[in-house]
Amino acid sequence: MPFPFYLQILGSGSAIPRNNKNHTSQLLVYNNKYFLIDCGEGTQHQLQKFKINFQRIDQIFISHLHGDHYLGLAGLISTMNLLGRVKPLQIYGPPGIKEVIDLHFSIAKARSAFEIQFISTQDKEKKLICEVKDVNVYSFPLKHKIPTTGFLFEAGSNWRKMIPEKLEKYEVPKHLRAGIAAGKDYTRENGEVIPNEELTLPPPEKRRYAFCSDTAYFESLSEKIGCSLNLMYHEATFIEEDKKSAKEKYHTTAAQAAKQALNTGAEKLLIGHLSNKYPNEELSLKEAREVFKETYIAEEGEKYEI
Ligand SMILES: [Zn+2]
Repeated sequence: MPFPFYLQILGSGSAIPRNNKNHTSQLLVYNNKYFLIDCGEGTQHQLQKFKINFQRIDQIFISHLHGDHYLGLAGLISTMNLLGRVKPLQIYGPPGIKEVIDLHFSIAKARSAFEIQFISTQDKEKKLICEVKDVNVYSFPLKHKIPTTGFLFEAGSNWRKMIPEKLEKYEVPKHLRAGIAAGKDYTRENGEVIPNEELTLPPPEKRRYAFCSDTAYFESLSEKIGCSLNLMYHEATFIEEDKKSAKEKYHTTAAQAAKQALNTGAEKLLIGHLSNKYPNEELSLKEAREVFKETYIAEEGEKYEI
C-alpha cells in the first residue's frame, strides 16, 4: 500500500481576502511528513481551524514576495516559538525573504529559540531544492511581476518490490534482502549471479503534485515542469473576457490554466486565486472545464488525494 499523499487547501483567495476566502496557503502531507506551501496572512488561523498540528511542519515553500503569499509567515514563526518549538525550520523562497523576516524580528527585539534556515530559490530553471523522506521538491520558474517560482513535489519509495517466490526459489538469505530491495544482484554460493530483475519488480511509480502560483500564461511551462502530474494547482485569477488584464497583470485566465493542465498531462487540476470581481466561481469552472474536464475549484479545508 502506498503511503497517504494529499493536499489540503488552507487559503485559495486572491489579493483581497473575503469571508471564507483566505490568502494562498496549502498543506501537503506525505507519509505523515508536513510541507507548507505559501503562507498568506491568516494561515496560522486556518491551520488551527482545520486542527493541523503545525509544529510538524519543518519545510515552508514561498512562491514569491507579494504579501498575499507570505505575510502570514512572521506570525506563524512567532506562534511556533511561543509554543516552545526547538527543532529547526527550513524556509525556501526568493532572495529577500530572509531580510524581511530578520527585519521584523530585529525591530520587534524578538528572537526565535529555534533555528531558521533560509534557502534561496531562483526563477531561471527547474532545480531540485529539497530531499526529505522519499519526497523530492523542485522549484521551477513562473512568469510574474517579481521573481516567482512554482514547486513540484515528487513522492514515493525507491525500494524495489521483492517477489517472495523468487527469494525462496534462490534461497536468498534474510540479511541480504535490504540490498536486493535497493537494486543489488544476488550471488549464490556456487557463484551464479541472479540479476535483480529476476527477484524484484520496479518500485511503484512516483506521484507528483505541482503548485503553480501567480503567473502569466506561457507556452513552456510544461517543459519547465518536465514530467506528467497526478495533480496540478494553477492560479486562474481572470476569465477569458478579461484576457488582456490577465496579460498586463501577469496572471492567468481559467481557460489558460486548463490549457496548462492539458499541456502538462495532469490527471486533475485545481484552480484558485479567482478575482473577487466575478459574482460566482461557476464562470471560471465552466470555462476551464471546456478545455480540461477534470478541473475543480480549490476549496478551503478540502483534502485532495494525489
Ligand atoms: Zn503575486
